Amino acid sequence: MQAVETAVSTMDRNRWLELLSPLADREQSLEFFDAMVPQGITRVVVKERDRSALPGALPGEGYRLVLEVFQETGNRGRIATWRVDIRRPRGDEIGRQPWRILSEDRLASIEGLHRLALQSEKQYAARNLVLTAIDFTLRLPAGDVFTAETAEGVTALVLIGDGTMLFEPAPKEEKGQLRLFAGTETIEAPFSMAFVRINPYEFEQRVAENTLTPVPVDPRSLRRGQGVFDEDVAKSFNLDLSDLSREVWSLLPQPGDFVAEVRTRRFDAITYARSSGEPEDVTLFQRGRRRNISAYASEQKLASRGRFYNEDDLIDYDITDYDIDAQYFPDREWMDGRTRIKMRVKSHALGVLTLRFADSLNVSSVTSDEFGRLLFLRVRNQNSLLINLPSPVARDSPLTLTLNYTGRLARTSIQDESVTSGEPSGLAEGDGQRNAQPDDIPFVPSEPKWLLSNRSYWYPQAQVTDFATARMRITVPAEYGVVASGVLAPGSPTGAAPGVLDGSGRTVPRVSYSFEAPQPVRYLAVLVSKMTRVDAATVALDIVTPATGRPLVAVPGDTLTQQMARLQAQALAIPPVGARNTVRLFVDANRRQEAKSRDTVALGADIIRLYASLTGDVPYDAITVAMVEDDVPGGHAPGYFVMINNPPPIVAHNWRGDPAAFSGFPEFFMAHELAHQWFGQAVGWKNYHEQWLSEGFAQYFAALFAKERRGEEPFRDILRQFRRWAVDVSDQGPVYLGYRLGHIKGESRVFRALIYNKGAAVLHMLRRLIGDEHFFRGVRRYYADNRFKKAGTDDLRKAMEAESGRNLERFFERWIYDSSIPRLRFSSTQEGQELAVRFEQVGEVFDVPVLVTVTYADGKTAEHLVSLSEAVTEQHLPLTGTVRSVEVNQDGGAVAVIERK
Ligand SMILES: [Zn+2]
Repeated sequence: MQAVETAVSTMDRNRWLELLSPLADREQSLEFFDAMVPQGITRVVVKERDRSALPGALPGEGYRLVLEVFQETGNRGRIATWRVDIRRPRGDEIGRQPWRILSEDRLASIEGLHRLALQSEKQYAARNLVLTAIDFTLRLPAGDVFTAETAEGVTALVLIGDGTMLFEPAPKEEKGQLRLFAGTETIEAPFSMAFVRINPYEFEQRVAENTLTPVPVDPRSLRRGQGVFDEDVAKSFNLDLSDLSREVWSLLPQPGDFVAEVRTRRFDAITYARSSGEPEDVTLFQRGRRRNISAYASEQKLASRGRFYNEDDLIDYDITDYDIDAQYFPDREWMDGRTRIKMRVKSHALGVLTLRFADSLNVSSVTSDEFGRLLFLRVRNQNSLLINLPSPVARDSPLTLTLNYTGRLARTSIQDESVTSGEPSGLAEGDGQRNAQPDDIPFVPSEPKWLLSNRSYWYPQAQVTDFATARMRITVPAEYGVVASGVLAPGSPTGAAPGVLDGSGRTVPRVSYSFEAPQPVRYLAVLVSKMTRVDAATVALDIVTPATGRPLVAVPGDTLTQQMARLQAQALAIPPVGARNTVRLFVDANRRQEAKSRDTVALGADIIRLYASLTGDVPYDAITVAMVEDDVPGGHAPGYFVMINNPPPIVAHNWRGDPAAFSGFPEFFMAHELAHQWFGQAVGWKNYHEQWLSEGFAQYFAALFAKERRGEEPFRDILRQFRRWAVDVSDQGPVYLGYRLGHIKGESRVFRALIYNKGAAVLHMLRRLIGDEHFFRGVRRYYADNRFKKAGTDDLRKAMEAESGRNLERFFERWIYDSSIPRLRFSSTQEGQELAVRFEQVGEVFDVPVLVTVTYADGKTAEHLVSLSEAVTEQHLPLTGTVRSVEVNQDGGAVAVIERK
């Protein structure tokens, strides 16, 4: 290895020739050397990555090596993977003869790495310098400018002086978010320093002539410029070369791409980026608080992709199957694993692929069945892994990768999916609404648990969630239990070889849990805690095969289940989705939750039966409920299991004022989390904008279960809470902003109020607008069409329009893509045996059904649903007695502000 490194670093063909075996093809080998080793090399690092026995050689006689060769030529770098076969003469087991190269080949290479440096001999005086990108301008009337160049030209600029940053987002909802952030719809902020990256070929077009004049270098200015450069250069376009080089190596921005790190006094460090490859190509980010302020598609981008997008379309491959074998030591939060991934190439020709994977897990090897050992790189602070393929792989080709890794992996504390995928990488972590514990109340710590889920990147995965089947073997110390995405395999858990627990070298007995996920899941999750199985049952589902017949006749006072049974028995156009008529239900619990978990199987079975009748399916063969402890209620719901947080025996928490807490209905969390098996898991969402389809449905289905179990009044209490939160915070942005709601101010209650509660309220209003029959058929159609796929609001609209025969464009436009809510002026007068009611929509016209409740002198009440879809709606309601009072929206079913005349 040293000899190879020396031959390459001295660029000396003779030294290379000296390394060749007499059996080697000298001419071919020299050709390889000339092609691989250019003149002008300044530094070389050679690392062995793999070693196997040389095919056909006796043991110890020859090896096949995989080497990574990093070459620096001045400020340029390139990495190549070489296969080198070596051997020594027969009978030389004691190693007197040196190793010789038999043959060699280049397997892969990555070019175009640049070690950027500020030009210390060049300084410019700026005069009216203007740098623009989409909706963004940096102005520097006067100041100092330094640059960093590659052979292609200037790729980085440092601006020092009194400048102005201007950001003017075009979309209306982005202006609204900016107003929350800055109080104005555009930002104009003075800056003192800025760092800009551009594609070098665009320098002349971006920097106008005569705005930069060379001046003598002022050492003080240079020091400041160097300081800015050193701090900002590693923040973007930067690769982690690990043991090949500790220096910062950068890639060049693509043409049209632009990054500016701007130091403003008012907002501290602001990053603007235009990244043409992203579906939302314009972003503004506040670094210090890790907040995404803006993210949207420019007009150019919209012209190319249309209004909606599916994040799957951005990925060059489709993962179809995982095989994971991992050991986890919760006490050390240490993982040691191997994952085998089957994928299919989607792009025209795949050369490099990116996987998401936790930065803290060190990858020791990536191999493919097709190519053997592969070259890979980490992108700094991005939880990403770049894998280089030796030659482009054609569309539809299969690719099988195996990764080995080890490292520290801390637990996550996520609540539900409240902060979730779709965000730019490395941004906000899961939060959970932890409130301070008052000191004077005895506090029992929760039983520890380790949840590795969609934000942990605990196994190598696609950059977006990707439906795949899986097998997992998770090995833990024997005192722990494991619940994971999948069905526990027969005979599992099984004893495993003892493992080393800590630095002392002490070994502990261990167990292995094997899971199978034959139905595809969006992501895989593992929960490790001291749990035991407390209950199990097989739940019989009454999913009825539809028959054609009489039209639906709604019977007043029907429970939802009766109604659904009638729907199914009579005229459901949509057949059941799955063939399953039973599902297995398991309950695992922490010791202190065992008593509480006694009713869980019965409750879970009731919930599952209701949801199965509504959707015509249960997506998975088995569902496990894990009853664990946390001082914050809530839970998490990956495919195949739900985790329910229960308070430890004595705990003080202050959760009651939260939009997602329904104190009158303790089963709500379980009903919500179980609904995610259908909505969120079986039906995913196309990108972060569509998350309300998961949370809104989960919330609404939980409300339907509340009605089923507890009756109309508790259901209305829930509706009123939906409405109250939706009315209070709708001005924080449209439901379509997804996780970004409340994000700027770090107010996750805003997120839950809108995504969960307003989302559910919108579904309820839709149901009342088109009627139960159309709505529940629409739900089935939507579920059936999108099962094991990702859905968008447009897919829901399509399903509901197909069933109701009604154009719902304005309904969704107002309720999902816009942030306003209806303002209604209501008046009523009695005209003989009729009540004349009048609604006036002040402002934008919505489609909104409103309940009018008439109370008679004898105490009896009558309810009338009035559907508004015009600026003014007048209706005559029949009366049966003397009216005592008229109430509007008493049930909270309409998200509206109502003023009475
Ligand atoms: Zn949820």
